[in-house]
Amino acid sequence: MAAADNALAKTRNIGIMAHIDAGKTTTTERILFYTGITYKIGEVHEGAAVMDWMEQEQERGITITSAATKCEWKGHTIQIIDTPGHVDFTVEVERSLRVLDGAVAVYDGVAGVEPQTENVWRQADKYHVPRMCFVNKLDRTGADFFRCVTMMVERLNATPLVLQLPIGAESDFIGVVDLIGMRALTWRGETQKGEDYAVEDIPADLVDQANEYREKLLETLADVDDQIMEKYLEGEELSVEEIQAAIRRATIASKANPVVCGSAFKNKGVQPMLDAVVAYLPSPLDVPAIEGTAMDGETPMLRKPSASEPFSALAFKIQTDKHLGKLTYVRVYSGTLESGSQVANSTKDRKERIGKIYQMHANKREERSSATAGDIIAVQGLKQTTTGDTLSDPAHQVILESMTFPEPVISVAIEPKSKADQEKLGTAIQRLAEEDPTFRVRNDEETGQTVISGMGELHLDILVDRMRREFNVEANIGKPQVAYRETIRREVEKIEYTHKKQTGGSGQYARVIVKVEPLPLTADGPTYEFVNAVTGGRIPKEFI
Ligand code: GDP
Repeated sequence: MAAADNALAKTRNIGIMAHIDAGKTTTTERILFYTGITYKIGEVHEGAAVMDWMEQEQERGITITSAATKCEWKGHTIQIIDTPGHVDFTVEVERSLRVLDGAVAVYDGVAGVEPQTENVWRQADKYHVPRMCFVNKLDRTGADFFRCVTMMVERLNATPLVLQLPIGAESDFIGVVDLIGMRALTWRGETQKGEDYAVEDIPADLVDQANEYREKLLETLADVDDQIMEKYLEGEELSVEEIQAAIRRATIASKANPVVCGSAFKNKGVQPMLDAVVAYLPSPLDVPAIEGTAMDGETPMLRKPSASEPFSALAFKIQTDKHLGKLTYVRVYSGTLESGSQVANSTKDRKERIGKIYQMHANKREERSSATAGDIIAVQGLKQTTTGDTLSDPAHQVILESMTFPEPVISVAIEPKSKADQEKLGTAIQRLAEEDPTFRVRNDEETGQTVISGMGELHLDILVDRMRREFNVEANIGKPQVAYRETIRREVEKIEYTHKKQTGGSGQYARVIVKVEPLPLTADGPTYEFVNAVTGGRIPKEFI
């Protein structure tokens, strides 16, 4: 294996996906702490989360942007691509799912599987993203690990491979039983920030349960993995390495989902979760070559994840950095990208010059002279590239799958207070539209007002807020108008209209675009199926 490919084998590009409040930010911060990136934990509570790039995210306590950050764990490079947890940013999730190779779904041990996890899980199904699960918050009153696992089966149609059992519950939760090594990992004493944990014998009262769940684990593995099946049926002993290899195969093939647990906030269980990320989630070499087309948009082309293939990359995020200005986040799929070189933007059929290339860490940025297959980097100086565009070697152009975006569902009118504000609004609109393909602008012919549209009220609030803060636009904002199309017109095949659904817990409402798919005629006349147009998930009729 060439040196570059060897490094690729030790790379994990992962996303952390969760319903809002499940503990994604806390978990991410613990990861950064244990991997040595940050030396202070508890930033979430002090209002300055490392991964939260924008001020308003901190204020609102949500993570909007898909910032990528790199860390090292036991000789491996882990790139965390942040995925938003609010339904208004489903498109951002979709973008990040395109560029990552595997994901960790984080669950609140009390709430279990929540609506946004369900949405993202379906999107991840669509993109065949291998996933493992981290059942968090097991220190909370009412947390129930086993109920959460059952919900994974019932709500997500997942095949959980339970690799750990909790030791103790609620405030007595102290660690986990490792069902592969058949040992207990315990964290005692919260002041230690959980850096050290003890490896002990399984507590006597958990031995039977551990044996039972280990058997279940092997049985599930045998169901999904032929290599294990034979040995298992013949009653042969399986080594730790064989079990781990089978879990890896099953996870990468999206046949099963390893489940681990802990409490990020109480610093328990995060390191073994990282061990599982490295052990079971795919490297860029384990995922199939990315499919694209030639410039005709038809002839299929493949790009293998290797440094020796022609260069290809997908732009998945545009961000404005206070110091560096516009940064385009790019996933390199094949070949090498040199700073200062000229590449093709094959989607737009234009040339682009690559400025500086940065590797983004949570707390610093590192300038690099080049990036290679599997890397996720930020490029300065791209003028025409927007989210979803393919960059490729001018002599070997390819268009990687382009992304399609749903139509925005909610609009507000903006009236700048002065002429100067009108100009500032123009700049703001241009910049925000570059960053965010679901943000639309039009002029209302009747009123002459500027009308902006987005994916939900929170999305619009944030856009308006950014116009104010970052571009100093003073404006009057109208009432949000929702693009309802309430009637089902039978003559058309697919109708889109919005549907209101409670997102749970927080009491917020989210709007989801619903596709109405006519099904074959029945004796009772035409029937319809309701599908979430963003995730493809079926929506029960009771919700409509
Ligand atoms: P996110 O919205 O998924 O990023 O969730 P956060 O990481 O911001 O966590 C939401 C809230 O849950 C915060 O108040 C955290 O302190 C809290 N939290 C996160 N993890 C845990 C945990 O393991 N146990 C408990 N008890 N609280 C947690």
